[in-house]
Amino acid sequence: MSAVRATKTLSIDFDSVLADTMIVWTKEYNKLKHTNVTKSEITYWNIGMILPLSADEISTMFNYVWQYCWRDIPPSEAGQSEIIKRIRRRGYRISILTKRERPTVAYVAKWLDYHEIYSDDLIFIYDNTPKAEYAFDILIDDAPSNLVDINPPKIGILFNQPWNKDFNWPLRVNTLREVEQLLL
Ligand SMILES: [Mg+2]
Repeated sequence: MSAVRATKTLSIDFDSVLADTMIVWTKEYNKLKHTNVTKSEITYWNIGMILPLSADEISTMFNYVWQYCWRDIPPSEAGQSEIIKRIRRRGYRISILTKRERPTVAYVAKWLDYHEIYSDDLIFIYDNTPKAEYAFDILIDDAPSNLVDINPPKIGILFNQPWNKDFNWPLRVNTLREVEQLLL
C-alpha cells in the first residue's frame, strides 16, 4: 500500500460513516425500554429530542454498545474495505478521525481489524478541538457541527443520515462508493 505516494489526506469519521452504530444502538434501546424504534426515526442530532433519555444516558448506552456489542455493528455499506483500499491506491492518505470517550477506543481498533479497514492513521479526539483543525484535504462526516468550521481549500462532505437531512450542506453522499466516484 505504501508504494503509492499519497498526496492528499481523506479523513473519515467513524461512527455512522464507517460503522453503522445506530442500528445496534436502537436495538439495545428497544431491548431495554420494550420499544420498537428504528434508526430512520432518529431525525434529530440530539437524540434526547426524540427519546426520553438524558445526554448522559445516551452516551452511556453508546459506550455500552461499543464495549459489549461491537461485533454486531455492521459496516455502513458492503465492500467498504475494498472501496477504501481503492481510494488509497488513487493517492489519498486515509485518516480515521473519531471523537469519543476513552473506554470505547480499544473496540474501534478491534472493529477496524475485524472488517479489514485500511487506514494510514487513526485519531481519537477526547477534547473539544474542532475536527476542522486537524490536517486533511477532505473530511467525510455525518455531524453538521464537524463540517461548519471547515474553510476552503479544505472540503467537507456530509454523509447522509436521518439526523442530518435538514442541514443545508451542498456536498452530500450516501456511501463511500459515491465518494470514490467524486474523487475520480
Ligand atoms: Mg459520526
